[in-house]
Amino acid sequence: MSDERLLCVSEEPEVAVALVRLARSLTGPGTGRVVAVVLPGSAPDAAERLAAAGADEVRPVDGPALTDPHVVADLLAEIVAAVSPSVLLVGSTKRGREAAGHLAGVLDLPATTGVTGLRLDADGIRVDREALSGNAVAVERIVRRPAIVAMMPGFSAPPAAPSPSPGRVRQPPRATAPLTERTELRPKAGGQLEIEKADRIVTIGRGLRKKEDLPIVEALARALGAEVGCTRPLAAEAGWLTDDHWIGLTGHRVHPALYVAVGVSGAVQHLVGMRSSRVVVAINKDPNAPIFAQADYRITGDLYQIVPALTKALGG
Ligand SMILES: Cc1cc2nc3c(=O)[nH]c(=O)nc-3n(C[C@H](O)[C@H](O)[C@H](O)COP(=O)(O)OP(=O)(O)OC[C@H]3O[C@@H](n4cnc5c(N)ncnc54)[C@H](O)[C@@H]3O)c2cc1C
Repeated sequence: MSDERLLCVSEEPEVAVALVRLARSLTGPGTGRVVAVVLPGSAPDAAERLAAAGADEVRPVDGPALTDPHVVADLLAEIVAAVSPSVLLVGSTKRGREAAGHLAGVLDLPATTGVTGLRLDADGIRVDREALSGNAVAVERIVRRPAIVAMMPGFSAPPAAPSPSPGRVRQPPRATAPLTERTELRPKAGGQLEIEKADRIVTIGRGLRKKEDLPIVEALARALGAEVGCTRPLAAEAGWLTDDHWIGLTGHRVHPALYVAVGVSGAVQHLVGMRSSRVVVAINKDPNAPIFAQADYRITGDLYQIVPALTKALGG
């Protein structure tokens, strides 16, 4: 256990809690200090949740929700100056990575993104990151503290260990003018799907013969209360679904409770995006399809028979 001071911040409530739990496990109970920032616009119980997860101190920031990464970086620079952490933990979300990049520039700090594991050693900060399309884990050492570490959403966080007497410090609001402004917000064709947040996903692969057959799988997704995902060929080549459905190395990384893969072979580039799903069901007519090696439940057969039967059994 170490006597380090760790600062945690993420705009995603679940990621913020996981960061605090990780930080607490690294410092140990009663040693070091875990400080969590509550960004403007967070849920009313955000500070309580972070304290329950193990924060010694929670710093709620007042003011309107922050969207400009430069403004977030300026705010964090101020908090870093006040707290003097040895490690700043952020989520490796789009916003988290942007803010980490700007902050690293402002404060001249080392920053690492896409981290799945973290250890604090006397000779450096060791981080695990996916390598070789997710088939290997690269261990890297950051030799300089303080450092910014962006943890992948869905990383395995230890259980909560609340601090005996968490304190609160109110951070003054920042009045910095944004350096970028949004001039237009256009709806994407296909809607506003955020598949990373889905709890259940039914993913379609090239086993589906034609676009007109999509409703067969969409009906199963509806019956399960799931979002529809797809492999790259269906989005990038066939254009049957928009990019926000695309799962994998070059698409979205998901971590749902239930992942149903329908007519998906299980290419490594696809597996990288879904392998942290809790329960995987695979339907494929090829008993040797690689997806079966990732599956908890394997259904070998023709999706055109199995999917409608499953949908019916689920009352759809
Ligand atoms: C640099 C790079 C990045 C990539 N990034 C991604 C990525 O992010 N995401 C991604 O998904 N792919 C990605 N790919 C592509 C990847 O390599 C595979 O080509 C792709 O995932 C295959 O998609 P698929 O499983 O839908 O199709 P296929 O591999 O063609 O598999 C179709 C499966 O359907 C089964 N099937 C056929 N008919 C039926 C039926 N009637 N009933 C049941 N099963 C049936 C077959 O047995 C087969 O297993 C990338 C490739 C490269 C080179």
